[in-house]
Amino acid sequence: MSDASAAEEEWPPLPEALVVPVYDNHTHLDHDRDHGGPQLDPREQLDRASAVGVRGVVQVGTDLETSRWSARLAAHEPRVLAAVALHPNDAPGLAASGELDAHLAGIDELASRPRVRAIGETGLDYFRTEDDAGRAAQLASFEAHIEMAKRYGLALQIHDRDAHEDVVATLHRVGAPERTVFHCFSGDAEFARLVADEGWFVSFAGTVTFSNAKPLRAALEAIPRANILIETDAPYLTPTPFRGRTNSSYLLPHTLRAMAAQLGTDPSMLAAQLSSNTELVYGRWDDEPVTPPPGPFDPHPETGGAGDPDWRG
Ligand SMILES: [Zn+2]
Ligand SMILES: [Zn+2]
Repeated sequence: MSDASAAEEEWPPLPEALVVPVYDNHTHLDHDRDHGGPQLDPREQLDRASAVGVRGVVQVGTDLETSRWSARLAAHEPRVLAAVALHPNDAPGLAASGELDAHLAGIDELASRPRVRAIGETGLDYFRTEDDAGRAAQLASFEAHIEMAKRYGLALQIHDRDAHEDVVATLHRVGAPERTVFHCFSGDAEFARLVADEGWFVSFAGTVTFSNAKPLRAALEAIPRANILIETDAPYLTPTPFRGRTNSSYLLPHTLRAMAAQLGTDPSMLAAQLSSNTELVYGRWDDEPVTPPPGPFDPHPETGGAGDPDWRG
């Protein structure tokens, strides 16, 4: 068996194609999964997604380098819009080394680029950061990102882990952007209602399919469908029945079908609603033209790859 077919076997098969297409509003095409999953070229991931009715993705940067890469990919690829930000888990280290302001300035520069439609993922992560100095750095970074989203008129993608109360308090204190998304929502029905009542969006990931995720499914049922989005957060959080394996946008139909079953509705009805919600938040994928890439596509921004150096800009 060749290495290629060995790697291929690691990937779950393509699900049955959706009749009505959806968007994956939060994915990381560039991330190496930490448990050593096999890599698929981002273009191959997008081709597979297209083949099963996932018609577009929001590619999310988590630091300056991956945000630059995300903006550049979106500029050249019609199926991709970009979100740019410094991840809350990186804020404490950047603040400690005195680099936070310079990196925020770098994100600010990217925010005005074509096809960059969101600031994210930003927010608060109290699971990974427990010390006061680290949490203060996260808060400063979060507030700076909120300000950018409002100044540029972009959507905000929030990463909220064990920090529901402080995330909401921050949004109330400084004022939330017009379109605010709780990515990979992890609250219960009560918190989902609070988020939806504010007019914010609740984005469900593969976690909603997990057998132990009853509160998430209750959250899904508790809010108006106009407030719901769907995402993979790939390569993480692979939906049932492939939980534990590497995720990719082409596996989104499993999550959509599980959500439709939970809501007792037809997957096509739900897909139509989610597509419309997604375009309301980020705009249409085809309303800003793409420019042809300046050189060979570089699937591995972190190593530089063989492409035109301009591709990494
Ligand atoms: Zn996140
Ligand atoms: Zn993410």
